[in-house]
Amino acid sequence: MRVVVSGGAGFIGSHLCRRLLADGHAVLAVDNLVTGRRDNVADLAMHPDFHLLEHDIVQPFDVDGPVDLVLHLASPASPSDFLRIPLEILEVGSTGTRRMLDLAHRKGARFLITSTSEVYGDPLVHPQPETYFGNVDPTGPRSCYDEAKRFGEALTMAYRRMHDVDTVIVRIFNTYGPCMRPDDGRVLSTFIHQALTGQALTVHGDGSQTRSYCFVDDQVEGLLAAARSGGAGPYNVGSTEEYTVREVAELVIEVTGSVSPIVTMPLPAERSGDPQRRQPDLTRTAAECGWQPRVPLAAGLAVMVDAARRELHGA
Ligand code: NAD
Ligand code: UDP
Repeated sequence: MRVVVSGGAGFIGSHLCRRLLADGHAVLAVDNLVTGRRDNVADLAMHPDFHLLEHDIVQPFDVDGPVDLVLHLASPASPSDFLRIPLEILEVGSTGTRRMLDLAHRKGARFLITSTSEVYGDPLVHPQPETYFGNVDPTGPRSCYDEAKRFGEALTMAYRRMHDVDTVIVRIFNTYGPCMRPDDGRVLSTFIHQALTGQALTVHGDGSQTRSYCFVDDQVEGLLAAARSGGAGPYNVGSTEEYTVREVAELVIEVTGSVSPIVTMPLPAERSGDPQRRQPDLTRTAAECGWQPRVPLAAGLAVMVDAARRELHGA
């Protein structure tokens, strides 16, 4: 297949490109590097079937030749971006998504959008099935991201209904692994960086809020399973291993062997409305995509810590 991956130089996108190439596909990554890094795909630069087009997908563009699959991942995704670049997030989720849908429509390609567990907001139903409509604050600091993703889902369904585009929506839950930016503000990248550099691990609030953490290799497999399934979704893709933030801090200390202390601090402003609990219900994804996560958190963390150590030492 020839696959176009928007956001292909980002954290999840770069792993996805690598996997697609290993499976024998040709890959065109389109990325403006707003939160991605050229380094993430540096090892692919010489691959004959890989090309990186540095472009903002909000601006018009076209691709020569046939395209079989469009994987639309482009979007800043870290809460630290929500106050910094909210307009860019809204634009890529709306106009950017439309440009990628137009591309899939022109080429007759299947289209996959990476939506998010954030469409459930601070959920009142636990765990969250795809049938839950969510509890989203439409004006809070997270709204630029949550509502852009909800709009992207609606746009995707409109293209499916109006133009017969073969679409699938995936709702990604918290994902971690090598290639996350150490300063992206997300909990695991932050804790690992703090633990490896002798700084205190900064738990927000009392640390009783939970997330369920999916290793990136599992996530990539889940995205490809959803793409292959032929279904429309939405499909939750994430891990059901649920941890409090405090438990995660303790696990990072254990895996790194760090002597850093764990401290608590007030929730930062951009985090107001922080979801208290999050765990995917994977019943539909397992039944329709035949996928389930495999990598336990401690094992995935060990891989991520190794990669973070190498990056710190400039390797
Ligand atoms: P990331 O920031 O590492 O990757 C996103 C990529 O999109 C970056 O390389 C960025 O430069 C690129 N991008 C952003 N705006 C663009 C634009 N206008 N034009 C071209 N490229 C643009 O984030 P990630 O964690 O890899 O997330 C990938 C996707 O998965 C996103 O859509 C995100 O919303 C979704 N997601 C991720 C998580 C997670 O835990 N990582 C959870 C839920 C959803
Ligand atoms: N968090 C924390 N300390 C940090 C960074 C994050 O306690 O240094 C908390 C954050 O408030 C949230 C959880 O960890 O409750 C997960 O944050 P992350 O940004 O990784 O994911 P998201 O909130 O987008 O699900």
